[in-house]
Amino acid sequence: MAAESPLLEAKRRVAYLELTGRSLLNRCSGQRQYFDWTVNPYRGCEYGCQYCYARYTHEFMNLPVEEFETRVFAKTWDEAMWRRDLRRVKPGDTIAFGTATDCYQPAERRFGLMRKMLEGLAGRSGMRILVTTKSDLVARDGDVLRDLARQNSVRIVLTVTTMNAELARRIEAYAPRPDLRMGVVAELAARGLGVGVSASPVLPWLTDREESLDAVARAAREAGAMTFYARPLFLRESAWAVFLPWLKREFPELETCYRRRFARGAHVDRHYSNWLEERVERLRARHGLAGRWEAPAAQLPLQLPLFS
Ligand code: SF4
Repeated sequence: MAAESPLLEAKRRVAYLELTGRSLLNRCSGQRQYFDWTVNPYRGCEYGCQYCYARYTHEFMNLPVEEFETRVFAKTWDEAMWRRDLRRVKPGDTIAFGTATDCYQPAERRFGLMRKMLEGLAGRSGMRILVTTKSDLVARDGDVLRDLARQNSVRIVLTVTTMNAELARRIEAYAPRPDLRMGVVAELAARGLGVGVSASPVLPWLTDREESLDAVARAAREAGAMTFYARPLFLRESAWAVFLPWLKREFPELETCYRRRFARGAHVDRHYSNWLEERVERLRARHGLAGRWEAPAAQLPLQLPLFS
C-alpha cells in the first residue's frame, strides 16, 4: 500500500505521501500498555531524531528505516471513519496521540489532521486524552484542547531531552529548539491546560548527568509544567541501525560505552534504569513536580483546572 501511495507534495528534504487504512485508531492490548488507544496521524517523522524508536513503523511497510524522516505518510482523512472509530472509545479510556510519530511535525501545517481529529472529539466526555510532541505547533490547538478539557482529562506533554541547544541540534536536528518547546509549556499552562515535560529518552553519557536533567526539570517547573518524567534510551534494531553510525560520527569516543551498555539488547540494564529513576524522583521532589504521565490509565489524575 505504501509503495503505491500517491505523492502528495515533495519538499526539498521530505516527500509527503498518502496512506489509507481501515481505521485511524489503534487498540492497545497487553499488560504493559499504558493506553487503551493510540492515534498516529502520520507515519514517519521529519524531525528525524537520531534515537527515534519509531523507525520500525517504516520497516512494517518494507521501507528503509533511514527514510523514516524523508518519506512521511499522511493518513487519509475520513471524518465518517473517525467518528465510527470513536464510538469504540468508552468513558475512562485513555487515548494517546503521537506514540509512534510526532503528531505536530511540520506535515501538520499542511494536512491539519490533528486539528480535525481533536475537533471530532467535541461533545465526548470522560476520556483521558494525552498528546505528546516536540512541536510548538501544538499551541495552535490550545483552543480546541481547552474546550475538550472541560469534559475530559487532557494532558499535553512536551518532550525536552536537554536544554543545551547545541546538543539538541546534534541529536534532534530538525525539531524545534528546547527553549521554544518550553515556551509552549508556558503558553499552554497559562491557558489552564495540564502540561508535562518528558526528558525521554535519556541518553547515557549525553543527557543523563544530574545538571542536565536538573536544567530540564527546573525549566519545566518555571514554565508551569505539572509533571516531569524521563525514561532511558531504548534501541531496538531499527533504531540502532541509525543511531550507531550517527554516534560514531558525532561522539566516536562513546561507541564502546554504548556497545557495552546495550550488549544484551534494546534495553539498558535494571541497575541503570533504577539509578535513573532515583535521580528523576529526586529532581521531581526538588522542583515540586508530579510523577509520570505514563502511569496506568486508572492512576492518571483527573483533576484539571477548568475555565469557567
Ligand atoms: S519527534 Fe518523536 S517520532 Fe519524531 S523523530 Fe523524534 S522521536 Fe521520532
